[in-house]
Amino acid sequence: MRRLGIFGGTFDPVHFGHLLPAIEVLKVFALDTVVFVPAAAPPHKLTEPVTSFAHRFAMLALATTPHQGLVLSDLESTRSGPSFTVDTLREIRAGWGAEQLFFIMGSDSLAQITTWYRWPELVELAHLVVLRREPLWGAGLERHVPDILRPRLRLVSPSRTADLAAGEAKGWVFLLEHEPYPISATVIRRRLQAGEETDDVLPPQVSRYALKNRVYHRGERDD
Ligand code: ATP
Repeated sequence: MRRLGIFGGTFDPVHFGHLLPAIEVLKVFALDTVVFVPAAAPPHKLTEPVTSFAHRFAMLALATTPHQGLVLSDLESTRSGPSFTVDTLREIRAGWGAEQLFFIMGSDSLAQITTWYRWPELVELAHLVVLRREPLWGAGLERHVPDILRPRLRLVSPSRTADLAAGEAKGWVFLLEHEPYPISATVIRRRLQAGEETDDVLPPQVSRYALKNRVYHRGERDD
């Protein structure tokens, strides 16, 4: 059975808060691969400046290549208009031959799921795997989960593996109880602009690329 994880996001830049939990999801859910799918035009960030797709993609390539099981797709860059997750999952389901899809998102994203385009269809196409992003966890998170998703919630301990969702193609919302990684790309961009160290939050090859190409230098990215 082919089990694919799909991790969508802006990845501006990709950081350890994406990479470390993605590696955990790969193991816990016994996935064949986790595919990072950077948004060409992130619908939630249409009014904010976003680094070019080419730079974000290049940094993702540097970050994912060393890890077996992590791969990268440019499929959202080939579509025009905003990058809607529902279209991406539909395309993957139709063309990639995966029997089980696990769409990965942070708990902050789950808390805003009702703002996503055609969000009820997501669980008709995939399982959701929710990463722990403080402070949105436990009762505080559940309050933000829409009624139709609440019965689908399943808490998952990282020490359990494989038998999860065996055979079921879609429909569960797994809350993965991993150690939280309190890292955000917004803070990283500010640190890079200020010339601060980022070794605790970024793979060194990503920070080298960002510095060499002046990706986050003031004025180069319009913010
Ligand atoms: P920004 O600070 O620019 O908003 P971000 O760090 O939240 O960026 P995104 O690319 O927007 O990164 O996130 C992609 C997905 O990864 C989202 O679903 C987000 O919730 C999740 N995510 C981002 N950072 C973390 C983290 N530290 N821990 C768990 N999930 C995360």
